[in-house]
Amino acid sequence: MDLSGYSALTLVERIDFADDLALFRLKAPSPVDFKPGQYATLGVMDDATGRPLLRPYSVASAPGEAMMEFFIERVDEGKLTPRLWELEEGADIWMRDKLVGRFVLDTSCRHHLMAATVTGVGPYVSIVRDQIRALEAGALETPYRVMILHGASHSWELGRYVPELTALADEHDWLSYIPTVSRPWDETEWAGETGRVEDVLRKHLDGWGPPLDDTAGYTCGHPQMIDKAQGILERAGLPEDVIHEEKYFVERVSA
Ligand SMILES: Cc1cc2nc3c(=O)[nH]c(=O)nc-3n(C[C@H](O)[C@H](O)[C@H](O)COP(=O)(O)OP(=O)(O)OC[C@H]3O[C@@H](n4cnc5c(N)ncnc54)[C@H](O)[C@@H]3O)c2cc1C
Repeated sequence: MDLSGYSALTLVERIDFADDLALFRLKAPSPVDFKPGQYATLGVMDDATGRPLLRPYSVASAPGEAMMEFFIERVDEGKLTPRLWELEEGADIWMRDKLVGRFVLDTSCRHHLMAATVTGVGPYVSIVRDQIRALEAGALETPYRVMILHGASHSWELGRYVPELTALADEHDWLSYIPTVSRPWDETEWAGETGRVEDVLRKHLDGWGPPLDDTAGYTCGHPQMIDKAQGILERAGLPEDVIHEEKYFVERVSA
């Protein structure tokens, strides 16, 4: 097959957070440009078809870097992800050169409430890293205010984004980060928020108290969280056109 329009990225490192959750660091041949929040189309060559087997993945790293970061969950019955886990460091992963997506910062608002399940934090990490860089470079004068709610069953599934985003939130007063776990009884040492993202969303939105006519909402990851959280944001008073979503998959309806 014609692979013009694709680049071979090198798998530099896979950092496991759980058996089925990992951060993948991939090195592109040259810096990759995109808007923070967008996704890349990644895959491996499928010998059976002679074509790359491709899936979309949100980029967690900031634009303009050759070293790219992705937070990926392995779906055991899936076609691509079990194969990603089989790759050794140094292996090639194909990426479509054009990165796309409309799940980017809505600059019509100054306040941004971002809800994610597990790997759905990727776009927000990219947005936050990019904003810090823009502020440091003087390219952005007034930071957008950001609150990230990040949920999983267990804290270890949130990976190294907990220490990173917690430290950034301590450093930057425009950023709040609230990790939350829905199975706290499995880890008695967890002192943070408990409950699903959609269960604690309204409490944190009200506590934060942004002007609702200047606030955009974002939901990313698991479709169930997205459907519930969007209803909560709408009932809280956010207009529909500033509520944005990135559903990572569609749930199969069992017969
Ligand atoms: C815009 C976009 C961005 C995405 N970004 C990310 C990302 O950053 N990280 C990430 O891990 N995934 C992300 N995904 C999901 C990803 O594209 C794949 O769907 C996922 O990795 C499964 O691929 P697969 O080939 O292994 O499984 P498939 O063979 O494609 O799917 C097998 C079955 O599993 C279901 N399924 C897919 N994902 C899940 C899941 N997480 N949990 C339960 N069931 C699932 C599918 O609906 C399907 O029924 C994104 C999806 C979209 C649309």
